[in-house]
Amino acid sequence: MDKSLESIIDNQKNYFKSKKTLSIDFRIQKLKDLLKEIKSNEKEIELALFNDLGKSSGESYLTEIHFVYSEINIALKGIKKWVKRKSVRSNLINFPSSDYIIPEPLGNTLHISPWNYPFQLSIAPLIGAIAAGNTVLLKPSEYSVQTSQVLTDILSSVFDSGHVDVVVGGPKIASDLLEFNWDYIFFTGSIEVGKIVAKAAAVNLTPTTLELGGKNPCIIDETASIKVTAKRIVWGKFTNCGQTCIAPDFLIVNKKIKNSLIKELINQITKTYSEDVIKCEEYGRIISEKHMKYLVSLVQNEKILHGGKFDIDNKFFEPTIVEIENLDSKIMESEIFGPILPIIEYEEFSEIDELIERYSHPLALYIFTNNTSFGKKFLESYPFGGGAINDTVLHIANDRLPFGGVGQSGMGKYHGESTFKTFSHFKPYISKPLWIDPPLRYPPFKNKINFLKKILKLIS
Ligand code: NAD
Repeated sequence: MDKSLESIIDNQKNYFKSKKTLSIDFRIQKLKDLLKEIKSNEKEIELALFNDLGKSSGESYLTEIHFVYSEINIALKGIKKWVKRKSVRSNLINFPSSDYIIPEPLGNTLHISPWNYPFQLSIAPLIGAIAAGNTVLLKPSEYSVQTSQVLTDILSSVFDSGHVDVVVGGPKIASDLLEFNWDYIFFTGSIEVGKIVAKAAAVNLTPTTLELGGKNPCIIDETASIKVTAKRIVWGKFTNCGQTCIAPDFLIVNKKIKNSLIKELINQITKTYSEDVIKCEEYGRIISEKHMKYLVSLVQNEKILHGGKFDIDNKFFEPTIVEIENLDSKIMESEIFGPILPIIEYEEFSEIDELIERYSHPLALYIFTNNTSFGKKFLESYPFGGGAINDTVLHIANDRLPFGGVGQSGMGKYHGESTFKTFSHFKPYISKPLWIDPPLRYPPFKNKINFLKKILKLIS
């Protein structure tokens, strides 16, 4: 076992044992300090996101920085209420008693984050963990190197070491970290690595959140308004170059409107990113050469309807639309996680049903239709992490909606108060006086069982 990791983790254990994080004022102060430090490092964060992923400053602000501001402000506004001990009604068997539930921190938490929204996905879980009184060891992705550096700088200037530490590195470091006995593991990443994390967590029975991915279907029925549908799909799919866990992975389109939708999708791509996308400052880049090569391999044998240009050195991949004729092709095997939009046509509803079953339990499911009651019935009849009728991605923007997957797409929920709940144990206890001690519960029961039965019947 790595000695330097051992000493970082020992330090975290001692920090938690010191009970410093139990003070609510201390937690509030740390969240305020974090907000202030992020504000004074906005330019550095935007530059790092540009260098890692070619994100424009506007996109970085909206999808990463603002998101974090909002989560911190929600925690600052809610924390005093969230941490309160709550009284619950007692019952006859316990009479007289006062019964309570109090949230307590879990302890030392490990966070492993991905590269696609490397700032937001590292800080958002941390906010809830700190608000709930835990320590955090963050291991960001080895791909988003510049953002990892900014994260290290910001977090080390706000938090004492032991309270929050950042350890950088790839799978080796991550596996070493997973060998320690954590009180909670919060993982965001691929299904494949999620399984490795779950196995490692099982050794110590560590509770875990797994925020994973998958292939998100997006259905467009024949009643959908083509223009706004195309606009919202293009935005959801090509923001961050399709490297968004809840981006629509592929479209299932009614045959009657397929051609007009494709025409409008192309029109919207051109309008948003211009004819010469490579020169468009609002269009990002693919994270690495390895991911570029994967995307190139996906379109090699496909029928390309639009786009398809790429430049591996520049990590540029044009917004691309492909028509799927064979569901067994590589592109339909697993999550694309890039700017390639496959289109599948349907005629009968049963075909949609089969496709959703095939990619069951996605992280997101979308339907575009002017028949809203059908849309509701549709979304309510399939299991998926979260979704939308007539939009993509934006369910993530409401902190009152718990965010997370189900089945293959993950377990656990966060955002807003849900993050605080994730990192808390809601501890129940009862408090009784000693001056009274009703004899009914004590043996021998022989002479009181009939009376007891009557009472139990009365109160149940
Ligand atoms: P990844 O699983 O390859 O890596 C995620 C993290 O796990 C990184 O920090 C990485 O270093 C670490 N890791 C890699 N190998 C490991 C191992 N053997 N043991 C322990 N940790 C290991 O994922 P990625 O490529 O960074 O991100 C893309 C994936 O993340 C996509 O599948 C996407 O859908 C998913 N994702 C999900 C969400 C969500 O909220 N559900 C958000 C963003 C991304």
